[in-house]
Amino acid sequence: SAPLTLLGPAPGAPCCPHGPALLFVKTSQGKEEGRRFYACSACRDRKDCNFFQWEDEKVSETRLAAREEYNRNHQPPFTHRQNVDRYKNFVLLPLSKRRFCQECQQLLLPAEWEEHLDHQFLCDVTTTQLKSPSQLLYPLENKKTNAQYLFADRSCQFLLNLLIDLGFRRVLSVGTPRLHEMIQSRASQEEFSVRSLLLDIDFRYSQFYTEDEFCHYNMFNHHFFGGEAARETCRKFLYEENGERVIMVTDPPFGGLVEALASSFKKLMAMWKETEKEGHDNKEMPVFWIFPYFFESRILDFFPSFSMMDYQVDYDNHALYKHGKTGRRQSPVRIFTNLTPNTIVLPEEEGYRFCTVCQRYVSSGNQHCEICNSCTSKDGRRWKHCVLCKKCVKPSWFHCNNCNCCTLQKHSCEKTDIGCFVCGKAGHKRSACPSLS
Ligand code: SAH
Ligand code: ZN
Ligand code: ZN
Ligand code: ZN
Ligand code: ZN
Repeated sequence: SAPLTLLGPAPGAPCCPHGPALLFVKTSQGKEEGRRFYACSACRDRKDCNFFQWEDEKVSETRLAAREEYNRNHQPPFTHRQNVDRYKNFVLLPLSKRRFCQECQQLLLPAEWEEHLDHQFLCDVTTTQLKSPSQLLYPLENKKTNAQYLFADRSCQFLLNLLIDLGFRRVLSVGTPRLHEMIQSRASQEEFSVRSLLLDIDFRYSQFYTEDEFCHYNMFNHHFFGGEAARETCRKFLYEENGERVIMVTDPPFGGLVEALASSFKKLMAMWKETEKEGHDNKEMPVFWIFPYFFESRILDFFPSFSMMDYQVDYDNHALYKHGKTGRRQSPVRIFTNLTPNTIVLPEEEGYRFCTVCQRYVSSGNQHCEICNSCTSKDGRRWKHCVLCKKCVKPSWFHCNNCNCCTLQKHSCEKTDIGCFVCGKAGHKRSACPSLS
C-alpha cells in the first residue's frame, strides 16, 4: 500500500473520541494521490479507533449528532474529579479492604467488589504501590497505539539527577509516567523541591493524581481532554514563578508521525513563551525529547536547535533492544535537546567520556573521526569513514557503486527519490530502512 502522508492538524477538523482528527493523504513517489481524509490522531490501528472521513465529505446533521454521542460514550467511565474523590476514599480504607481490579485496571471501593468478583484482583494495596502506579498498572503494549515502554530505574534516576543538576525545578512530563512518579514519590518522602505535571493519554493515571498533577492529553494533536481548565493548569505550571525553571521531558511512542509530535511540542513551547511578558527574549523552553537515533534527521528538520546526546536510554520492557558484544542490551533510544551539549554530563562509570573537540559527552565506542572532525557514531559502535561518501558510516555497511552511497551488503539497487519515512534518507523505503534492521 502507498505510504500515508500527514498533512497536519487542520483547523475545523472533525473529532473522534481522541480529539481532533488529523488530515492525511496517500502519496506515491512523492506525489499526492487520491482524496485527502481525516483519521484518528492517536490510534494508527483501525481496531482501536476506526474514525474516518473524507476531507470533502458532506456529513449529515444526524450523523454529526450520532458521532457526538459516540464520542461522549467513549470517554472513561469516571471523570478525573470523580477519580480524585475515589482515591481520597480509597486511602482511608484499611489495607484489607484495598483492592485493585486487574481486569478493569481500577481501584475498587468496597461497594463495587461484587461487580468485579469474577475478575482478577490485587489485595492489600499498599501506599507504596499507590505511589508507583506504573508498576501497578500493566504497560499498554499495543505497538501501534500506546506502546508504553517504561524507563529502567537506572535511566530514570539518571534523567532526574541530570535535570536537578541542570537546575530545573519543574518538569513537564509528556508521556513519561515513570519519571513523573519518581519525582512525586521523592517529593512525598523528603525535602525535595522538584515538581512534575504529567500529560498522558493513559487515563488510568487519573486514579492516582490530582488535576494539578495529571492532565489527560493527546500529544499527537495537542488536545487537552479536560478542556480549558486543564489547559490552564498546564499554562500555570509553565509559568516560572520564583525563578523555578521548567523543562519538558517527553518520550513518545515512535510509530511515525514525527510531524504531529513536533507540531504539538511547538504549541507547548509557545505556551511557555507566552507565560512570560517579555516572551523569554529569544529563548526556547528547554526540552528533552527521548526518541530513537534513526529519527535524528527528522527531528532536526523540525527543531534545528536540537542535538542528539549519546546516552542510551534503557527500558524495562523494550522490543527494540539489540544485544551488543558485551552482552549488554544496546538501546537505540537517545535524548534530543536544545540545551548546550557540553552541559549534559553523561555517567563516566558507564563508559561515556568527554570529547574536547566536539564539546560533548560521547559513548565509549564513539571514536573521533579526524576527517569529519566529529565523533560520528550514532549507535555506540565504532563507525568507519568512507572517502567516497565523505562521511562515517556504520561498520557493517559497504560502498555500493550502483547506488553511489554506503548501505547494507544485502540491498536492491533501486532508487526512490522520496526520503525514507523513518530516517529521511533517500535510496530506500520505510520497509527497507537499514535503521530498523
Ligand atoms: N519511558 C516512559 C514511558 C514512555 S511510553 C516512562 O517510563 O515514563 C509512551 C508514553 O506515551 C506512555 O505513557 C503512553 O501512555 C503515552 N502516550 C501514548 N500515546 C499518547 C498520545 N497520543 N498522547 C499522549 N501520550 C501518549
Ligand atoms: Zn480516535
Ligand atoms: Zn569528538
Ligand atoms: Zn568520518
Ligand atoms: Zn560510501
